Amino acid sequence: MNCRDFHVLLDSYLSDELLTETNHDILRHLEDCQGCRSAIEARRLVRTRLRSAVRTAPEFEVSASFKKRLQSELSGGRSRTNVRSGSFGWLNVTRGWALAAAGVLLIFSVGVFFTYTSGDDPGVAAGTEVLRTDSLPPDHLVNIAAVDHENCAVKHFADDPATTVAEVPSEFRGLAQVVSSEMKGLLKDCDLVDSHSCGYKGVKFSHVIMKNGGRVLSVLVTGESADPGAIVGRVKSFASPDYTVSSFDVAKRSVLVVSELDAGMNAEAAQLLAEPLKLHYERPRSEAPSSTALLLAR
Ligand SMILES: [Zn+2]
Ligand SMILES: [Zn+2]
Repeated sequence: MNCRDFHVLLDSYLSDELLTETNHDILRHLEDCQGCRSAIEARRLVRTRLRSAVRTAPEFEVSASFKKRLQSELSGGRSRTNVRSGSFGWLNVTRGWALAAAGVLLIFSVGVFFTYTSGDDPGVAAGTEVLRTDSLPPDHLVNIAAVDHENCAVKHFADDPATTVAEVPSEFRGLAQVVSSEMKGLLKDCDLVDSHSCGYKGVKFSHVIMKNGGRVLSVLVTGESADPGAIVGRVKSFASPDYTVSSFDVAKRSVLVVSELDAGMNAEAAQLLAEPLKLHYERPRSEAPSSTALLLAR
C-alpha cells in the first residue's frame, strides 16, 4: 500500500466498508506514514463536524406550516387528489433545495479537507486548535482534571486487566450509560471500568472511566467552568506531555475528556459527547412524588 492507495480507500476505511485484509494493509501503512496519519485524523474530524452540521442545519428542519399542511392533506381523504399532487410537487421543490444545501456542505467539507492536509504541522491533526497545558496556571480546571485522571484512573485501572464495572451507582447510571455507548461507537474494544465521584484540590467530579486496551480515558464532569464565557458545546483541547484534555461547557457544567489518545481523537471523543450530555443534563429528573401528591392519592 502506498499513500495514493491510502487516499483512495480512506473514506471506505472510516466507514468500515473494507475487507479485513485491506484494513490490515492500511494499519500497516499508517504505522510508518506520518502524513497519512495526519490525513486520517483530519478526515475523521471533518466527518464528525459534517455529521453534527447536518443534524443541526436549519435547512433540514421541516417548517411548522409545512407539517400542518401535510397533516391536513393526509387527513383530507382521497377526493382531494388535485390538492395533494400540488403539495407533493412542492415537496419535491424543497427536497431539491435540501440536496443543493447538502452539496454545498460537501463542497465546503472537501475544501476544508484539502486545507487541512496541506497544513504545516503534520504532528497534530490540522484544524484542531490544541493549546498547551503549561500555558495555564496549575490550579486551572484543565490541569486539575489531568491530575485527577492520573491519580484516580491511570494509577488504579491502567495495569489491572481484570477490572470491569460490577454495578454503576444509581446517581451515575445515566451518565455512565451515555459515555459508554458513545465511546464504544468511537473506539473499538473499549469498556466501562468505573463510575464514581472523586476530586482534587477541592474540585468535585463525576468520573466515568473507560478503558481501550491498556489506555484509560476519563470523562470528568463538574459544576465549575473550565472557561467562563465559553461558547456552550465548543470543544477546546489542551496537550500536556502525557495527556490530552478536551473540554466543553454544557448545561451549566464543564465536561473534561482526558486520555492518551492523540489530540484529534480526544477532541472527537469530546465532540461526540457534547449533544448526548446536553440532553442528559437538561432532561428533567423524575422526582419522588411530593407529599401533596401522596395526600391526594390517599
Ligand atoms: Zn502514506
Ligand atoms: Zn475518580
